[in-house]
Amino acid sequence: MGSKQKISLSLFLIMSAMFITLIANILMNFRDYGLQSVENKAKSIAQTVKHSLTSHMVNGVIDNRELFLEQISKLENIDEIWLSRGAAVIEQFGKGFNNEIARDEIDEEVLKSGIEKAVVEEKIFGKSSYRITIPYIGSSEGSIDCLSCHTTAKSGDTLGAITITMSVDDIKEVGMRTVGNTIIIALILIIVILIFVNKLISPFLTLFESINRVMQKAQQGDYSDRIGSTNGKESDTVAGWIDGLLEKLQTTLDDIEQKISVFLVHQKRKKIDPLIDVKSTVNRLADIYRFRKTIEHDEHINEVYDRLAHILREKFELTDFNFIEADTTHKNVKIVYVEKEIHCKAQDGCRADRTNTVVDSCQFHKMCDKFNHDIGKYYVCIPYSISNDLDFIVSIITETKEEHDRIRELLPSVQDYIDTAKPEIVSKKLMHMLELTARTDPLTGLYNRKYLEESVKTIVSQAKRTNTPYGILMADIDFFKMINDTYGHDVGDEAIKIIANTLIENVRESDIVVRFGGEEFIALLYNCDENYVFDIAEKIRIAFSKKEIPAGNITFNKTISIGASIFPTHTDNFWQCLKFADLALYHAKETGRNKCVVFSKDILKDGELGEEY
Ligand code: GH3
Ligand code: MG
Ligand code: MG
Repeated sequence: MGSKQKISLSLFLIMSAMFITLIANILMNFRDYGLQSVENKAKSIAQTVKHSLTSHMVNGVIDNRELFLEQISKLENIDEIWLSRGAAVIEQFGKGFNNEIARDEIDEEVLKSGIEKAVVEEKIFGKSSYRITIPYIGSSEGSIDCLSCHTTAKSGDTLGAITITMSVDDIKEVGMRTVGNTIIIALILIIVILIFVNKLISPFLTLFESINRVMQKAQQGDYSDRIGSTNGKESDTVAGWIDGLLEKLQTTLDDIEQKISVFLVHQKRKKIDPLIDVKSTVNRLADIYRFRKTIEHDEHINEVYDRLAHILREKFELTDFNFIEADTTHKNVKIVYVEKEIHCKAQDGCRADRTNTVVDSCQFHKMCDKFNHDIGKYYVCIPYSISNDLDFIVSIITETKEEHDRIRELLPSVQDYIDTAKPEIVSKKLMHMLELTARTDPLTGLYNRKYLEESVKTIVSQAKRTNTPYGILMADIDFFKMINDTYGHDVGDEAIKIIANTLIENVRESDIVVRFGGEEFIALLYNCDENYVFDIAEKIRIAFSKKEIPAGNITFNKTISIGASIFPTHTDNFWQCLKFADLALYHAKETGRNKCVVFSKDILKDGELGEEY
């Protein structure tokens, strides 16, 4: 049932109840009023009869009362009228020629008690009557002394009673007519009120029902429905406001969504609610903006990768993934971030990078031959082109097919983050290369003094923390100036490159080789004691002495001298320790060159570094 019907029915029921109560009230009042007037009439007739009979008595014409009573009974509405004598009167005068005795119990009761009694006999469809029996009480007081004639009676005795029965049908009839009229008026009124109210509230109800419909749809994300016309001035104004607001909301949301989504990778998803869609898009944008702002202030590219990993871990709930960098110019692929463990040999060639397409383990059996399929995991590797010569590959590994499918859905969002990180990756890569260049010697490709100065802090703390000694070698070509002087500067440069290569060839990957200056080199040998440092130094010295240095058509050999010290064995001051290696080198030069000398206090001249030794 619609609201309109509900309200109409309620109104009808309320009004009906009201009118029924009203009619019942009228009916009751009418009855009371009717009975009252009948009673009054009966009483006045009774009084009239009483006084007339007294007059008849006084005038000695009491025997003619029959005519009088007959005339009275002909009065309107009077059905019957009779007299009944009290015991004293019967005793004195007998029952009278008309046998004026009590006709029924009511007469007897009134004669006995001296109290008048009225009885109403009501029938809805039959004859209704009113009967009243009024006693005549004997009294010696007043203008007429009853007891002067009624000698057998005492004052206060009931001398007789008059009973009058009257029809109340005319009252009933008038009552019924009144009720009938009232019902008709009430019905007409109810109908008029209902029509009026209906007309008055109909637009508001239409408005209400339309708002209900429109809002229900809006609740489900459909803002396209409108209220329209409601056939009422005020309600149309309200409808106009709401429709206008909805229109504004819909177009604004569409507009915002369209404009913002330009910044994000389009995500295939069901349109749920433009408001919720806009909210989620704005949230995505805000998250990405925050991410961008953060990585802008990061110093190193590894920090950017760490943050990206954090996003994948926390936001996308990924547990196993790796980042791969592919240098497209030098065909160099390396895994730059490992979240859990390495599952592929990307460095031997990454399929995602080579094909520049997403590699998905569900596409084909053993999709990528570099992946370790024995572990029975799913993988998806997405290549992102960062710059002309750098591709960035995100490799995501999952345990289950469901998780794999979930991740495929997430890829557009992941791409948003990678796209955002792109300029930072490029600039940080560039910065890294610049930094590397600033710390690299262009002639030999070795680290330079600047790098050493910056690395010392880390080397020192690592050596002390892990209690691992570093061997410090300081190598210098013997009579180098002669090469320059004899063969020219270019040949000198060649000799410098050869010594650099010799050093690299004879140390381990964990060791650091630095071109300290001119033709002076430093090698920091990780985990190295005094014997080992000497052996390595000797190995280098001999290797170099065997190297042919080209000078035009000819080649020649040169020697080097090496000084060595152990950090922190000789001193826990790194630069001091370096100085010891330099002293050892000086000692080697001084004592004939082409030799290796490990620092000891014996090589110190008197007073040299006397404070420490
Ligand atoms: P010593 O045995 O005592 O070391 O004698 P030396 O001649 O090698 O003397 P020293 O080590 O002082 O020689 C340094 C020379 O190295 C000076 C400079 O001309 C030369 N030199 C420094 N840097 C370069 C460079 O980059 N290329 C060339 N060709 N020569 C350089
Ligand atoms: Mg030299
Ligand atoms: Mg030198």
